[in-house]
Amino acid sequence: MDLWLLVQIGIVIFFTLVPIAVVMFLLWIKRVVDENRELAKKELELWSGDTDEYGRCEACSEPIRKGFLYCPVCHKKLGNKCPGCHRFLKIKWTKCPYCGEEYGAAAVEAGQQKQLAMKLDSAATQHPSSAQ
Ligand SMILES: [Zn+2]
Ligand SMILES: [Zn+2]
Repeated sequence: MDLWLLVQIGIVIFFTLVPIAVVMFLLWIKRVVDENRELAKKELELWSGDTDEYGRCEACSEPIRKGFLYCPVCHKKLGNKCPGCHRFLKIKWTKCPYCGEEYGAAAVEAGQQKQLAMKLDSAATQHPSSAQ
């Protein structure tokens, strides 16, 4: 086998491998770009999903997300912070679903009613004859 044939084989291999390498490199770049785009899209979907779930500000219809205590545009109060565990609570909730803390005017009223009911209960059990 003479040297010239070896050089020719070398050149052929070189010119077949280089385009393959270039194509693979381009495909790799494309994949990375696609993955990033997919990630960005997912993030966007997550965001819009959140706004769909938690809706818009009643006052100015700005999209709002879970955890917003105030509308960032019109400053309307959207939620409360639990005094017990500091988690976000919806404005109409009067009991924290996480730690059981009761708060707000409605909670106080409910608590008073509960206490009253308990007092009535205990009165009824202590003096069963007087209740009849
Ligand atoms: Zn608003
Ligand atoms: Zn709580």
